[in-house]
Amino acid sequence: MNMVDIIVAKRDKKSLSKEQIQWFIENFTNNKIPDEQAGALLMAVFFNGLVEDELDTWVKAMIDSGERLDLSKVSKPTVDKHSTGGVGDKVSLPLVPIVAACGAAVPQLGGRGLGTFGGTIDKMETIAGWQAQIPNENLVKQLNEIGGFIAQPGDNLAPADRKMYSFRDVIGCVESIPLISSSIMSKKIAEGTANLVLDVKVGRGAFMKDISQARHLAETMVKIGNNAGVKTVALLTQMNTPLGNAAGNALEVTESIDVLQGKGPKDLTDLVLILAREMLQLANIDKDPQSVIQDGSALKVWNEMVKAQGGDLSQAIPVSNDVRHFLADKSGYISDLDAFKVGLSAWHLGAGRTKKEDEVSKTAGIVCLAKEGDKVEKDQPIFEIHVDDPARFTQAEVALQGAAIISPEPARERDLILERIA
Ligand code: URA
Repeated sequence: MNMVDIIVAKRDKKSLSKEQIQWFIENFTNNKIPDEQAGALLMAVFFNGLVEDELDTWVKAMIDSGERLDLSKVSKPTVDKHSTGGVGDKVSLPLVPIVAACGAAVPQLGGRGLGTFGGTIDKMETIAGWQAQIPNENLVKQLNEIGGFIAQPGDNLAPADRKMYSFRDVIGCVESIPLISSSIMSKKIAEGTANLVLDVKVGRGAFMKDISQARHLAETMVKIGNNAGVKTVALLTQMNTPLGNAAGNALEVTESIDVLQGKGPKDLTDLVLILAREMLQLANIDKDPQSVIQDGSALKVWNEMVKAQGGDLSQAIPVSNDVRHFLADKSGYISDLDAFKVGLSAWHLGAGRTKKEDEVSKTAGIVCLAKEGDKVEKDQPIFEIHVDDPARFTQAEVALQGAAIISPEPARERDLILERIA
């Protein structure tokens, strides 16, 4: 096999053979391809794409670069959810125990955040004592006994993706539908779930700003999943305004527990229940997810999940002791609340990362005290700014300027779900 031939073929818009793709992924993972050649091929894929067969082979080769979890001994139907991420998106935290309490097994392997928001693992790590990694031999046990886990994947899950994702970052090849879809789906398929719901966020607080791009990404991922034998559906959901009220790691854990106690914000609770129904339908489980919030069984599963991974339930979720207010500049209705600006402000406070190695603040973040449609009076606090490092406050406050537009009339309520792709 000759790497130059592979680069030239993709440069000239030809399809790569199965053997060429398998050879590239294997040797790339094992550091046997010079960086300039790997970079040239990924850039050629960025411009010329991969057709469906090539993409299926590419994903399979990424999965085969490491281990695939064996969930065949799990006694319940397995189903998971993946979100492309957005401001205030803490859905996985309440969703996993809700779906588990309904009788499914939810093997959620999550990540740390890069960019404006922390990832699921960053949020869970604000719980005292909680450990992100579960030894492989305990994964099936936890699914059978508790019904779900949220954990960080081991180093051997799709190692090709771990290398390729950071490599793409430094060669300007992140925003490519075949490369994003193969990156996400290789990890989810390797995780071993039989069913998968994708939440593809669209809008100014999301990776995909534009609905046609988001649709293309969702359709590509749904096809990859179904071709690999994982029953997959996708929802396109709005991310122009923050989801729920809180953006910041510990703040989002507290809000997730509110959802499990039946007192979460309406938009967040609605989305969690919609995604739960999609997951239960794929898993052929006929149960109303609202009932497990009402009877306390979802909260019980959450407590068991946290305890099983060393979390200390007797300790409170950490909060900042320096909370400042941002005031409304006039009276009226909030007609537009900008997810991007709220996310940027939380990031300035230290809730997100600039580089992969950065630590995130547990307590920093923003709480929206008013959401779109709410009536506010001049000088009423509309944001809480939870400060961890006071040196970061000014930039965070500047980012919030113009984040909430106040008008004499309320604007039309946004649709939460934009499209469903199956
Ligand atoms: N998330 C991933 O896991 N991979 C990408 O390429 C983009 C987002």
